[in-house]
Amino acid sequence: MLNLSQDLTERIRAHAAQSYPYECCGALLGTENGDGRTVQDLVMLDNQRDDSPRNRFLVFPEDVLRVEKAARERGLDVLGWYHSHPDAPARPSEFDRQHAWPWYSYLIVSVEAGEPRRMSSWRLTDDRERFDAEEIASQLGMPG
Ligand SMILES: [Zn+2]
Repeated sequence: MLNLSQDLTERIRAHAAQSYPYECCGALLGTENGDGRTVQDLVMLDNQRDDSPRNRFLVFPEDVLRVEKAARERGLDVLGWYHSHPDAPARPSEFDRQHAWPWYSYLIVSVEAGEPRRMSSWRLTDDRERFDAEEIASQLGMPG
């Protein structure tokens, strides 16, 4: 279960809309406890792929280090990553699977003709064979 406030949901959707027709990506910072994961902040990242920024996102190792440092300084964990799928469904692609790590939450928002649409979250299985869907709980009025 991924708890995501309305405010953070809107920030992700806005980032996805601004980046259209290219993919946006960023990190989900927060905490994990018995009730699941609660996202408390975002770090927006540049989509660093030059060859195909429209349909492939890639988080570089230096991004991971930078984001982990930012999270640590705030007493948070890097819970996962978000990115957009311009004019494609909110499902992980084969590329996504090959470049994902277990444990992290992968949030995907589909953007159709510039409008952010469906949002979904996924966790890679430990054997890296497939993604399992992760429920997103939107919380109104939660401090963001
Ligand atoms: Zn993707």
